[in-house]
Amino acid sequence: MHVGESHSPGPNVRFVAEARLPSRYGDFRVLAFECAEDGLDYGVMARGELFGAENVPVRLHSECFTGDVMGSLKCDCRDQLEAALTYVGNSEKGAVLYLPQEGRGIGLANKIRAYALQDRGLDTVEANIALGFPDDLRRYDTAAEIIRLLGIRSVALLTNNPAKVAGLARAGIAVASHIPLQTPPNAHNAFYLATKRDKSGHRL
Ligand SMILES: [Zn+2]
Repeated sequence: MHVGESHSPGPNVRFVAEARLPSRYGDFRVLAFECAEDGLDYGVMARGELFGAENVPVRLHSECFTGDVMGSLKCDCRDQLEAALTYVGNSEKGAVLYLPQEGRGIGLANKIRAYALQDRGLDTVEANIALGFPDDLRRYDTAAEIIRLLGIRSVALLTNNPAKVAGLARAGIAVASHIPLQTPPNAHNAFYLATKRDKSGHRL
């Protein structure tokens, strides 16, 4: 695959390495990128020839230690990640970008502080505000730069979140379509999902 040279302006992201990665969701390639601005590494699971491709299924997945790794039932992150990897794993081409922005960008320790407030009855948005954070600190310019480096011309975004479509479009990426990821609620995350729908505008 061809990965272009980094160019400015932008968050100064560079491609580091790529390797084959067979997974339970199919045969992927895993790519690593480094962002000089935030000093973080970004991982991408990819399939097919992406350079010059249009309408490529792409998921921007924000890291969730409790959900993705530990199987928490408080959120739907792992369900969404698995749905996205399954979708791309069954597609000719596609990419899942794993973004190191835990807890909507506030970090793991602050996310657990917010969980402690939620144990006392606050919802996700109220808890973040009580800690002095805006509802959502996530940003998509680094993801946009990675999509450009992959040579993807336009994306079919795997998401229920209109803010993500808008954020990526603002960062200069052509969003040709979006593909909803519906995952069933459970007894623990029904309130979380309702807050996403009612306060954050997610299509659920
Ligand atoms: Zn989560």
